[in-house]
Amino acid sequence: MPDVMVAASSSKAPSGGTTQQVDVAVVGAGFAGLYLLHRLRKAGFTAVVLEEADDVGGTWYWNRYPGARCDIQTIDYSYTFDPELESAWQWSEKYATQPEILRYLGFVADRYDLRRDIRFGTKITAATWDEAAQRWRLTTSGGATVSSRYYIMATGCLSAPKPPEIDGVKDFAGEVYFTGRWPHREVQLAGKRVAVIGTGSSGIQSIPLIAEQAAHLTVFQRTPNFALPAHNGPAPADRLGLLEADRAGYREQARWSLAGVPWPQQTAVSWQLSDAERRERFEQAWAAGDLVYILTQLWADQAVDLDGNAIVADLIREKIRATVEDPETADALSPHDHPFGAKRPCLDTNYYATFNRPNVTLVNLRQEPIKAITASGIKTDKRTFDVDVIVFATGFDAMTGAIMAVHPITGRGGKSLSEVWANGPQTYLGLTVAGFPNLFMITGPGSPSVLSNMAVSIEQHVDWVVDRLVAAKASGFTTMEATETAQAGWAQHMADCATLTLHRLANTWYTGANVPGKAQGVMPYTGGVGPYRSICNEVVSRGMLGFRLTGPDGAEQCNDGEVVRLQPDVRLVLNMLAEMQLPPLESFGAQGARNFLAEFNAARPAGRPVGEVVDGTLPGADAPLPYRLYRPATPGPHPIVVYFHGGGWVLGDEQSDEPFCRDLCRRSGMIFVSVGYRHAPDHRFPTAVEDAYAATRWIAAHAAELGGTPGAVMVAGWSAGANLAAVTCQLARDRGGPPISGQLLVCPVTDCTFDRPSYVDNATGYFLTRSLMYWFWDLYCSPADRTDPRVSPLRGKLEGLPPALVATCEFDPLRDEGVAYAEALAAAGVPVEQLKARGHFHSSLTMVDVVITGVSGRVQMAEALRRFAGLPGQDHQRAPHEIAAE
Ligand SMILES: Cc1cc2nc3c(=O)[nH]c(=O)nc-3n(C[C@H](O)[C@H](O)[C@H](O)COP(=O)(O)OP(=O)(O)OC[C@H]3O[C@@H](n4cnc5c(N)ncnc54)[C@H](O)[C@@H]3O)c2cc1C
Repeated sequence: MPDVMVAASSSKAPSGGTTQQVDVAVVGAGFAGLYLLHRLRKAGFTAVVLEEADDVGGTWYWNRYPGARCDIQTIDYSYTFDPELESAWQWSEKYATQPEILRYLGFVADRYDLRRDIRFGTKITAATWDEAAQRWRLTTSGGATVSSRYYIMATGCLSAPKPPEIDGVKDFAGEVYFTGRWPHREVQLAGKRVAVIGTGSSGIQSIPLIAEQAAHLTVFQRTPNFALPAHNGPAPADRLGLLEADRAGYREQARWSLAGVPWPQQTAVSWQLSDAERRERFEQAWAAGDLVYILTQLWADQAVDLDGNAIVADLIREKIRATVEDPETADALSPHDHPFGAKRPCLDTNYYATFNRPNVTLVNLRQEPIKAITASGIKTDKRTFDVDVIVFATGFDAMTGAIMAVHPITGRGGKSLSEVWANGPQTYLGLTVAGFPNLFMITGPGSPSVLSNMAVSIEQHVDWVVDRLVAAKASGFTTMEATETAQAGWAQHMADCATLTLHRLANTWYTGANVPGKAQGVMPYTGGVGPYRSICNEVVSRGMLGFRLTGPDGAEQCNDGEVVRLQPDVRLVLNMLAEMQLPPLESFGAQGARNFLAEFNAARPAGRPVGEVVDGTLPGADAPLPYRLYRPATPGPHPIVVYFHGGGWVLGDEQSDEPFCRDLCRRSGMIFVSVGYRHAPDHRFPTAVEDAYAATRWIAAHAAELGGTPGAVMVAGWSAGANLAAVTCQLARDRGGPPISGQLLVCPVTDCTFDRPSYVDNATGYFLTRSLMYWFWDLYCSPADRTDPRVSPLRGKLEGLPPALVATCEFDPLRDEGVAYAEALAAAGVPVEQLKARGHFHSSLTMVDVVITGVSGRVQMAEALRRFAGLPGQDHQRAPHEIAAE
């Protein structure tokens, strides 16, 4: 392996007074800045890189503390843009050390002759957009200025160390070190009393090595962190084998994966596995020593559901207890205040075992906070620790720290970035900011960045930005700027993504919580690397959606809009369906469509366990009907909900909405009886609705036999089933019962016209299309009957109906008729609650365990049912998801 000298030639900045003119100024010479310079040069731009350090490397230049290593396997944490570079460099370990990674980056700089355009020892202190010249003017620490058409901040997510928040650091008479600014000389710790403050990644990596040298090590811990053994050594043969067998395929898979490392998406959820299976998976992950593996490969719900997550967290705590001999220390080291993965977990080598050493003491700052640092050491409110050395492993002002440290960054109209970001960073794609033309950030807040293998994310960002500059140049545009609409849309999408994972439930540097006074919010994009890449590509394929481009002589192009309006998981589901290139459902014919649906349903998650599932038969209007009953696990009797499945009066059966019924049964604590009413075209209108009514009568009359509470029942349904539920309420009122205490109508069909805006806007998209609805109507009901309130309940009398919850989805042809029904019910004096699910499509709310953003909608439905039944509300404090309501 070539051992490139890192301390190589450093170019000097032009002396004060001169202004260097370039097409592109890049700040930062880490992974991102180096690749940028290479790409910009190849694309024919003049470029300069400005770097505060005296050499290349970024993170790996500054973080020289003992034990510093990467925590993504090095075969993945590498550049992939040049296959020849890949074969020219061999990593020596599964997780390379800081010196080796720094050598690698030096090797890259030399191989592409990058240093000649890097100004080392040059800090950018301010940046101003010059409106007249349409250029950025950068001020450097040395006084020289740089004028550039484009300004790209490759300043790093973890490059601004966080200053200690403790009084008296200056009074300390001993040595002080910061892991993020570790000296280049060797630090002698042998025989010394050392304190380490902080147990994040840098602390966890350095503590075992410091303990081996120090006479005594005292570790001051505020928040314990989950750490897993790295099992470092040579790169694992299986991963290396995969890479070598198909390098291009392996890299491509990484680019489209969730975290930037090619692992498949896990589909089994925790409750589908036995205890033994879960333990086996966990032990395998523990032995693998791989963060991305344990974060993504155990079970599908570990990162999105508190219950699925708690299982992993418990198993890790068990490992900590098994390793650390002193139970009190083990307990202090065990995290209880955040879900596993919500805060970045660490990879360790002997971290927990280090606390068994006689020369190591753990101080739990939750029990005895630090009062002050004195000349001789550290004082907590209980004890004094005399030490010779203090190591601050206190982390970074992450994601925004280095960007905001360039102050001011002044954009259009004299606006400063710190004003615009006063309440938290706002970006479009994490790449650009409205009002700051031609400014780009690599892995900025709002991009997957620190939640990914950053080598992959950096390459994607750099490629996207440079490709856009090339395209703009080719079309004669000289400025590029995100629109406010696009940026606001991205903020909404970020917030929607954040409800999907558990990151928002922890106080971490992901959310800004580690820096006093910093605005709080999940800063990295939690939607995944692959989805993010596809969104960036979509921006381009839709004509630079959300960007305003301008050029000389008034040339302007602005295709304004929001790139993602669907909920993130809905977008994934719809993309998956689109990729299957299914013919329209109606082209299968009724039986063919039923077969297709049965096959489709067989592949979905089965639904969570309930107390009991019982199949039976009940008398319909004039024929026996099958039903399936879902009973809660709690002691009965329970209120009964009569449920009608969806399927356009043509498809489905009493089992086809099984996961939805199970979910609502569990959440509401009620019996759900799903009725297999007869279908068109064999049985046309009004068979289905007469069956529905007859079934409701029978169920109400046999409530006690079914284990239910005698008296009123409730009705519920989805889509055409909600149509039947709504009509059943009208029939029950008019035909003398049974008593119905509430109706839950999810995306109901309520009327026979097709001209409301939602029918037009969603005519061809989102699975339920207008032509599919035409087909359903044609099979079920002849045109002459369609205004009959038994199929168009909106046209019926609405006074005196039971209270209702009407749920509608934004991207559903049936949205407006659902809203119209709710409004008409309210006008008729019926108590109505509306749930308008933003970013959802017709099937979203029923796709349990697939569309996770539907959870809080179902929580709301269950609460409404309990109200209808006169039961108290349930404690949903722990429900981790909130539905995006309009
Ligand atoms: C200890 C540690 C371990 C990590 N391990 C991994 C890992 O295993 N996998 C992973 O994906 N990521 C890891 N990361 C994240 C790591 O930061 C990124 O992987 C990557 O190195 C970032 O590259 P970058 O070029 O974007 O930024 P950086 O490497 O941070 O480089 C930014 C550069 O910009 C310079 N700069 C900033 N502001 C200015 C200014 N105003 N003027 C001039 N220069 C400026 C800085 O001096 C710095 O050199 C780790 C981070 C740390 C701290």
